[in-house]
Amino acid sequence: MQKHLELVQSMTQPKLEASNPWLVSGILRTQLQNVLYNKDQFKEIDEEFKDFGKFCNEVLYEFSVDAELNPPKLIKQDVYGNVVDKLVLGEGWKKEKEYAAKCGIVAMAYENKYGIWNRLIQLLRLQLYQPVSGLFGCPLAMTDGAAYLLKQWLTNPTTQCQETLKLVRQGFENLTSRDPSKFWTSGQWMTEKDGGSDVSNSTTTIAIHQGGNKYKLYGYKWFSSATDSEMTLALARIVPEKNIEDFKKYPLSLFIMRVKKDDGSLNNIRIMTMKDKMGTRQLPTAELLLQGSEAFLISEEGKGIKGISHMLNVTRLYNASSAIGSMNRLYSIVVNYSLKRKAFGQVLIEKPAHQAMLTKFNLNVRACSLFYFKVAQLFSKIQNNVASKDDEEMFRILTPLLKLYTAKICMYWMSEGIEALGALGYMENSYIPLMLRDAQVLTIWEGTTNVLCLDFLRALKSNDKNDPLQKLDVYARFHTHVMMTQLSADTQLPETRKTFIPYIAKMTINHNGVIAELSNILQGSIKYSEMRIRDLCFILCESFVGGQMLELISKNGREEDIISFELWVEQMQSYTTTWSITPKAFDILVKENIIKSKL
Ligand SMILES: Cc1cc2nc3c(=O)[nH]c(=O)nc-3n(C[C@H](O)[C@H](O)[C@H](O)COP(=O)(O)OP(=O)(O)OC[C@H]3O[C@@H](n4cnc5c(N)ncnc54)[C@H](O)[C@@H]3O)c2cc1C
Repeated sequence: MQKHLELVQSMTQPKLEASNPWLVSGILRTQLQNVLYNKDQFKEIDEEFKDFGKFCNEVLYEFSVDAELNPPKLIKQDVYGNVVDKLVLGEGWKKEKEYAAKCGIVAMAYENKYGIWNRLIQLLRLQLYQPVSGLFGCPLAMTDGAAYLLKQWLTNPTTQCQETLKLVRQGFENLTSRDPSKFWTSGQWMTEKDGGSDVSNSTTTIAIHQGGNKYKLYGYKWFSSATDSEMTLALARIVPEKNIEDFKKYPLSLFIMRVKKDDGSLNNIRIMTMKDKMGTRQLPTAELLLQGSEAFLISEEGKGIKGISHMLNVTRLYNASSAIGSMNRLYSIVVNYSLKRKAFGQVLIEKPAHQAMLTKFNLNVRACSLFYFKVAQLFSKIQNNVASKDDEEMFRILTPLLKLYTAKICMYWMSEGIEALGALGYMENSYIPLMLRDAQVLTIWEGTTNVLCLDFLRALKSNDKNDPLQKLDVYARFHTHVMMTQLSADTQLPETRKTFIPYIAKMTINHNGVIAELSNILQGSIKYSEMRIRDLCFILCESFVGGQMLELISKNGREEDIISFELWVEQMQSYTTTWSITPKAFDILVKENIIKSKL
C-alpha cells in the first residue's frame, strides 16, 4: 500500500514547454529567406533570431510571469492624508522595460541596419517578443507609434516653437534609445467616458492657450494604458476660455506632453483609479484627470485625428504581431504536450481527431503569419520611401483588415489551445488562461472589428468621382497579379505536383464574388453596405491569404506550401456565400424580441 501511495504521489503531468518561436511554424523564416537576396545577411539574422527566441523563452518569459503575479497598484494617499497618486510597479514589469530597451525592440525600427527591409525585420523579431513581454508590448506599440509620428513631424514641423522642438527631439531620441536609463515610453490618450470608437464626438478634454505653442489641458481620460510612461500624445479641443460651454463645437487637435514634471511630480494629472480588467492585468491602465496639464500642439489646429492616424498604423501592426506571436507560442506548447500526454493507450499526437485539430491550428498560424508578413513588407517600403503609390494604397487597405482578422483568429485558437491541454490549460498557475484573457483585448483596442470594417470601407473609397472603383481596382490587380504569376510558374512544376491547379479556379470565383459585392457597395447600389461589410471583410481576408499561399508555391514549390494552399481553399469554400443579413432579418430576429421582452 505504501508503495502504491508513493507511486501515485510521485506521478506528475507532462511539463508545458514552448519551442523556439523563430523555428515553430517556420513560415516567417521561409518568407524572409525569399525576400533577402543576400544569403549571408539572412544567415546572420537567422542566427540572431534563434538566439533571441531562446532568450524570450528562458529569460523574458519569467519576467512576464512575474508581471502577471505582481500587477501594478495605485497608492492614492499617504498615511497623513496627502494625495500622492503613486503607481507601484512590479519587478517583472520593470525588467521587461529594461530589456525592451536593451534588446532594441523599438529602436531597431529606426536604426536602418537592413536598408529597405529594416522595419520588416524589426516586426518579425517583435512577434517573437510579444507573448513573453508581460504586456509590455502595449506601451511599446504606442512608443513606436509615437516615435514614427514624431520622426515624420520633425521633417515637417507645424511650429518653430523652441520648447516644442526640444521636447519632440528629446522624445524621439529617448523613445528609440537602447539605453535603459534614457529609454522612454509613450502613452496615447484618446478614449473618454462617452466612447473610444467615436473620439471626434466623445472628446471632452479642452486645451486652453497659454501663449506661444503652449496649452493647458483639462479633462478626463477614461483609459490610459501607459500610465507609467514618460510622455504621451493626447487629443483635446482648443477652446477660447470664454466659449468653454460650447466646447463640442471645436475640432480635435493633437498635443505632446510630459507625464511628469522635472521634479518628478505629475504634470497636473490625478490618477483617479486603476481599471479592473478581465486580462492585461500586468498593464497599469488607469483613469486620469487632467487639471491643467502643460502640453504643446503638434498638429495643425483642428487636425488632431489626421495627426494621430500615423500612429494607428503602427499600433495595429503591433496588435497583429501580438496575435501571431501568441498563436505561435500556444501552438508549440500544444504540439509538445501532444507528444508526451497519453490517452487511450497512445500519445495524443497519434490520435487522428487531435491531428486534424493540430493541422488546422498550424494552417491558421501560417495564414495569419503570411498576412502579417505582406503588410509588414509594405510598411517597410513606405518607411524607407521606396513604396509605389499602389503599395501605399494596399497598405492603407490591408492594415485594418490584418488587425481585425488576426485578433479574431487568435481568440479562437487561444480557446482551442486551452482545450487541447485539457484541465492543465485551464489552471491559472499554468499561465495558459492568461493567454486567452489577454488576447480578448486585441479585438477591442486600436479599433474594434466593426470600426475597422468601416475604416476598410473608407480606405476603399476613391477620391476620384469619375473612377469610384480606383482603389478596389488596386486591390483586385494586386490579387490577380499573384494568380497570374502562379499560373506562369506552374509550368516549372512536375505534373504530380500540380494538384492545386483546380483550387486556383475556386479561389478566383471567391475573389471575383467579393470584388463584385464590394463594387456594388462602393457604387451605392447596395443600400445596407454597413450590414454586409463585416462578413465581406472576413471573406476578403481569407481570399487574400489564399493569394499569399499561392505566391509561396511559385517561390518555393514545396509540398507543405501546396498542401496548405489546398486546405485553405477548402476551408474558404464554407464562406463563399455571404450571409444575407438584411434590416428585415434584424427586425424579426432582434428588434421584435426586444419589444416582446419588455411586455
Ligand atoms: C485594456 C484596455 C486598455 C486601453 N488602453 C487605452 C489607452 O491607452 N488609450 C486609449 O485612448 N484608449 C485605450 N483603451 C480604450 C479602447 O481604445 C476603447 O475601448 C476602444 O476604442 C472601444 O471604445 P469603447 O470601449 O468606448 O467602445 P464603443 O466605442 O462604445 O464600442 C462598443 C461597440 O460598438 C461598436 N461600434 C462603435 N461604433 C460603431 C459603428 N459606427 N458601427 C457599428 N458598430 C460600432 C464597436 O465595434 C463595439 O463593438 C483601452 C481599452 C482597454 C480594454
